[in-house]
Amino acid sequence: MDFRFAFRRYSMAFRRPVRTSAGTWTEREGVFVRTERPDGTVGYGEAAPVPSFGRESVGEVEAACRSLGDRIGGDAIAGLPESLCTLRNALACAVGGDPWVARQSSLGVAALLPAGSAALDDAPPKADAGFRVFKWKVGVGAADDEMAILDDLFGALPGGSSIRLDANGAWDRRTAGRWLAYSSDRPVEFVEQPLAPDSRGIEDSLSGLASDYPVAIALDESVANEVDVGRWLERGWPGYFVIKPSLMGDVQGALSRLAAADAKVVFSSALETGIGAQAGLRAAFAWDGELPAVGFGVWPLFSDPGFDGPAAVPFLRIADVDRINPEEIWNAAS
Ligand code: MG
Repeated sequence: MDFRFAFRRYSMAFRRPVRTSAGTWTEREGVFVRTERPDGTVGYGEAAPVPSFGRESVGEVEAACRSLGDRIGGDAIAGLPESLCTLRNALACAVGGDPWVARQSSLGVAALLPAGSAALDDAPPKADAGFRVFKWKVGVGAADDEMAILDDLFGALPGGSSIRLDANGAWDRRTAGRWLAYSSDRPVEFVEQPLAPDSRGIEDSLSGLASDYPVAIALDESVANEVDVGRWLERGWPGYFVIKPSLMGDVQGALSRLAAADAKVVFSSALETGIGAQAGLRAAFAWDGELPAVGFGVWPLFSDPGFDGPAAVPFLRIADVDRINPEEIWNAAS
């Protein structure tokens, strides 16, 4: 079947810059794609690479879209470079519609806190709103300073709360060991990406850390696409896999391999707009099995709220996801 094809590159400022150990991120860039079947049915997708992951650029995505022209076949994905995972994902969403069947009635949501001491101001209202799982970026400041802030944060949160720490690959092995020891007797749900994904011997180092400390470790930047997922599954990785569906070239393939291996999966936002978030959340709702809180408690995120996904609430229902209207977001990007 032939589809009419169109794309729009967008650039949207975050309402406040996102600070991680990789630096300060001020605006989101990506490409929306739109397909239309001969019967008039329209589909949308979003290709939003994360610059700090360094796997593909928005410029490459845009150039590939331009080369597709204004009509594509249903097999257009097969002709795209393997490396353009986010674009393959976007086209699959736009051409294939919604392949998911919801198996979860609701999803717990983790609230994203800003890095540094700003988290101390942000956390109490979020706890009042009902959140009990929080995510905090570490490796942004000195370890001693961050551990002191974190102890204050634990003190400020209601009992039963837990915090997931995300180092975004900032630490060396020694610092990672210090943090994992610190986390082992505190309510830390897991520590995300303690070492850089391209650091030498990372597989052995992470496997060593995972067996030396009781606190769980999660891979994020190390599993940026389905090829990485396959490699870590083959190694028998015992910790979590943070899956950002928007970044996977083949979401269904990656998820079915993870399910077959009975892997521990955490679904998470890649700070994409509502178009990508809707597709990613539908994949999360379709997961058959226990799920930790999803890392989609990120909104409001953009200076134009029309780009946002569902409002951050402690529990999401599929109706909250269905309510997102991709056409409105596409139109807002014109
Ligand atoms: Mg992460």
